[in-house]
Amino acid sequence: MVAVDLSGKHALVMGVANHRSLAWAIARSLHQAGATLCLSYAGERLKSSVEELAASVPGSLVLECDVTRDETIDAVARTLESRWGSVELLVHGIAFARREDLEGSFVATSREGFQTALEVSAYSLLNVTNRLLPLLERRGASIVTLSYLAAERAVPSYNVMGSAKAVLEQSVRQLAYELGPKGIRVNALSAGPVSTLAARGVRGFTDMLKKHAERAPLKRNITQDDVGKAGLFLLSDLASGVTGEVVMVDGGYSIVAW
Ligand code: NAP
Repeated sequence: MVAVDLSGKHALVMGVANHRSLAWAIARSLHQAGATLCLSYAGERLKSSVEELAASVPGSLVLECDVTRDETIDAVARTLESRWGSVELLVHGIAFARREDLEGSFVATSREGFQTALEVSAYSLLNVTNRLLPLLERRGASIVTLSYLAAERAVPSYNVMGSAKAVLEQSVRQLAYELGPKGIRVNALSAGPVSTLAARGVRGFTDMLKKHAERAPLKRNITQDDVGKAGLFLLSDLASGVTGEVVMVDGGYSIVAW
């Protein structure tokens, strides 16, 4: 077996809300491989639960970062510049759409709802990468964001989040093209449905889980652990030749046509 050694590498993991978060699953894998972590959370509401998780990862930092507020991204960059001097691993596990835009009719999505979903769920990948670029290019870096099949297929109730994921996946390719010469790899991990805080906001999610397990070739739903391991692969040197890709981690669901 090839051992993954991330000791000496610094990982900023954005989008941990609680122990079910996909970003947390990747954070745990990175920690087990020896990386030093910084977990960022969106707002005061999540501070204590993220601090509690961070306590299980000795030496990790916890910083606030709401991606709709540039000053909080810049504050994270300044802190990591002074504490670490470089960031080699970046996990973007952030998405948001207004509840009414996930429950209502897609055709009736408001301008504001569309902008909010795309700003938080897709533009934030560019903006965070740009504001952290001096840190990311210092020793080369690997970036992973989290996507979903609704980027390329129509999925009931996913609505504007599908639009955001389509933009996110295009941004992964464009960023990978532009940042490759700087030694920065950018990939997306497209996860099958997993019960998390964000996922439970999608109407009919429980039914989606059931259908997914029935139809997927592996005959089960994926787990946080599946995501953690795939994230570790993409972020580590095991994937040193992979960039601009969307890697499906869905038990094979997306290859089936019936
Ligand atoms: P989660 O635990 O709820 O994580 C979503 C995170 O995004 C939360 O920490 C949330 O914070 C954060 N966020 C929202 N608005 C933000 C903002 N303005 N600034 C910073 N952070 C913000 O759910 P998850 O399922 O793990 O989601 C992680 C990623 O995986 C998302 O991109 C999601 O679309 C993707 N994904 C999930 C599934 C699934 O089935 N679970 C499948 C495929 C892809 P708040 O709680 O404060 O909003």
